[in-house]
Amino acid sequence: MSFLPELYFVCPNCGPFVRVFAEVLGEKAENPYAVELIEQGEHGLTVCDKLQLKPEKEEELSKIYHCGNCGYLVHSRILELDPVDQIEEYLHHIYRENESN
Ligand SMILES: [Zn+2]
Repeated sequence: MSFLPELYFVCPNCGPFVRVFAEVLGEKAENPYAVELIEQGEHGLTVCDKLQLKPEKEEELSKIYHCGNCGYLVHSRILELDPVDQIEEYLHHIYRENESN
């Protein structure tokens, strides 16, 4: 189990308080080495489980986070991690949905 403080994700579709999963990727590999199942708490992320798909090589690893509810990409750029920005994006999304109905 690992704990990642000060990270928080808001899904543009589902909002805050969603579970997320992360694809663990290497620099060259096309497919992820592992998938991490993550719960969000008040103070950060807790990796609950890790599904190892193949052995990790010695290289720089990166993670791509998705909403555990709808699969939407919740983080690709570090600058978008600010929870305030993420919640704003979510609210804009809701607003647009209501506009189009
Ligand atoms: Zn979602």
